Amino acid sequence: MPLTKARGNMYPWVTHTHAHIGGECPHRCSYCYVDSPRFGRPAKFTGGLRLLEAELNVDYGKGRTIFVDHCNDLFFSGVPLRWIKLVLGHCYRYPANVYVFQTKNPGAYGKLFGDFPPSRMLGCTIETNRRIAPDISQAPDPEDRYRAMRALRGHGPLFVTLEPIMDFDVDVLAWWLAEINPAFVNIGADSKGHGLPEPSAGKVAALISLIQCAGIEIRRKSNLSRLMGER
Ligand code: SF4
Repeated sequence: MPLTKARGNMYPWVTHTHAHIGGECPHRCSYCYVDSPRFGRPAKFTGGLRLLEAELNVDYGKGRTIFVDHCNDLFFSGVPLRWIKLVLGHCYRYPANVYVFQTKNPGAYGKLFGDFPPSRMLGCTIETNRRIAPDISQAPDPEDRYRAMRALRGHGPLFVTLEPIMDFDVDVLAWWLAEINPAFVNIGADSKGHGLPEPSAGKVAALISLIQCAGIEIRRKSNLSRLMGER
């Protein structure tokens, strides 16, 4: 599969996406976009995790912002370190791009600092500060993700994505984000009606205000408008 131009609900600042890891993501989030009607979970993303070795030969070119392995979690605890290093080595061979990595297991980042390409952004999804029911996601607990991201301060640029944002405690989540001190926070909402526990517009506005007071940039996804009552 060649490098794909970013489209749909992807971050507007990402230009391309590419996947090396096949199989179904073990976090099994109920809201996973790979299951969306538009994406329709291709056969490539069913079954056990596997390295799609031919993808290591794709020409990444230059001048791009590439979200690597957007259909899986490259840093899931069960992904062999060898596979991760091969993927990072692929990125390393094309140093004139920016690489975007995003995980729900950020504790894995710390073991890989010597392997990341020079221009990279290390992201983590934290949908809420509260525990997430296993029928919504089987990813590591949000508090564990926060602690792992906080340990990465100074190894950035880091970003946190609150998408799809779920009901939260304003003071706790604002504190977590201030402690992580990412370059920016992306905020987005469930765009496909998965029935997630969602916060009120007032809570989201209060959180945004506190994050901005901490000097952290907010990047809003257009899908937040529904939750904010703007359309
Ligand atoms: S972590 Fe991402 S790719 Fe994995 S199941 Fe959840 S939404 Fe899908």
